[in-house]
Amino acid sequence: MADQDTPGVTQQEVAQRARPIIAAIASEQTIDQRVPVTPESAKALVEAGWDVRVPRGMGLPSGFADEAYEAAGASLCERREALQSARIALCVSMDSDAFVDMVPEGVILAGFLDPFAKPARIARLAERGASSLALELVPRTTIAQSMDGLSSQASLAGYAAVVLASSKLAKALPMMSTPAGTIKPARVLVVGTGVAGLQAIATAVRLGARVTAYDVRPTAKEQVESLGAKFAKIDLGETGETAGGYAKELTSEQLDMQRQQLTKLCAESDIIITTAQIFGRPAPMIVTSDMVRAMKPGSVIVDAAIATGGNVEVARVGEEIEFEGVTIIGDPLLPSRVARDASQVLASNFVSLLTRVLDAETKQLKSPDEDEILSGVLLTHEGQVRDERVAGLLGDTTNGDAR
Ligand code: NAD
Repeated sequence: MADQDTPGVTQQEVAQRARPIIAAIASEQTIDQRVPVTPESAKALVEAGWDVRVPRGMGLPSGFADEAYEAAGASLCERREALQSARIALCVSMDSDAFVDMVPEGVILAGFLDPFAKPARIARLAERGASSLALELVPRTTIAQSMDGLSSQASLAGYAAVVLASSKLAKALPMMSTPAGTIKPARVLVVGTGVAGLQAIATAVRLGARVTAYDVRPTAKEQVESLGAKFAKIDLGETGETAGGYAKELTSEQLDMQRQQLTKLCAESDIIITTAQIFGRPAPMIVTSDMVRAMKPGSVIVDAAIATGGNVEVARVGEEIEFEGVTIIGDPLLPSRVARDASQVLASNFVSLLTRVLDAETKQLKSPDEDEILSGVLLTHEGQVRDERVAGLLGDTTNGDAR
């Protein structure tokens, strides 16, 4: 039925236009094919009362057609057009400084905002009056699990790392008995057994490899063994973990001890997947050039921690290199290799997060004082950088990290 005040526009369209807008932001970097909104999540957001705007063609590289978004009730638009009128903007990551300058005042931006490596961008967001929700800051608690983008992406990164490594190895992973003799199983070493490492272990075990894994957290042993892998015993003295379940940073002496004891394991491995990270800090350098030299030619290393500095001395961000006959891959966007599934779980993380931190009626942010999850993830608000660790990086002029 046509609306009386605006001839030619249906009442349904008027109602739609009155809804607050959620805009999906497409990455400018075509190398990251993930999207923050899928047709399925768009449908859930529309049903919750949002006007969902999606840049035309955004989902094509990850397998989501424009028509599927429209069928879900979203409208297609141009990239900038969506952002200008949005109350909420969802991005996978802030891929440039120019991106920050596009964010209008008053918008609530959510995504992987890389606050510890790019604090200056966060300060700029605050200056521009944008509120921001950083997925990196979602608490690692049972109640926040459905919003935990780090975990959802790490899981797929662990899987993708093993599939990538096995595709580069001139050897099969499982043991095979053939009339022409027995093929030995490949040996896979996984260093760091958080979410990504555990998924890497599970994938390599499923493919039939003989898997050994190591983590500084002693509690990891049981999880590793339950997946059918061997836990490497390396004595480093006291290591422990933080109250949030993260590893504590090792001393330089402990890192040296770790490298010495890992050298033999590296030399025996056909594939090494490294996933060791320290929350909010650069990743520890664990696999040295000498350790790589000790490996068999044709072996493969995937450094899945490269986005935060990497665990392998010779690995380079975004590159595949040959070093002494060993292939070393430093892909910071492993989840994008399975972009359809990575987008599906990430989009679901966003829906859960928004449901939690916004008032269901007004669709405005709740008060951070009344919600502990919001208090954790709310990185900038009312012109301030709220996270003390990020504010500390900005204040520390002796620290070259405040980029
Ligand atoms: P992460 O990505 O920060 O680090 C990966 C792994 O590297 C960790 O297991 C860490 O112990 C390990 N590591 C760090 N330094 C190392 C070194 N020098 N040598 C070897 N390993 C090293 O970890 P994550 O995947 O974010 O998980 C961190 C913890 O949080 C784990 O205990 C995980 O089970 C837990 N977690 C809990 C929840 C939840 O309760 N909802 C969700 C996700 C993760």
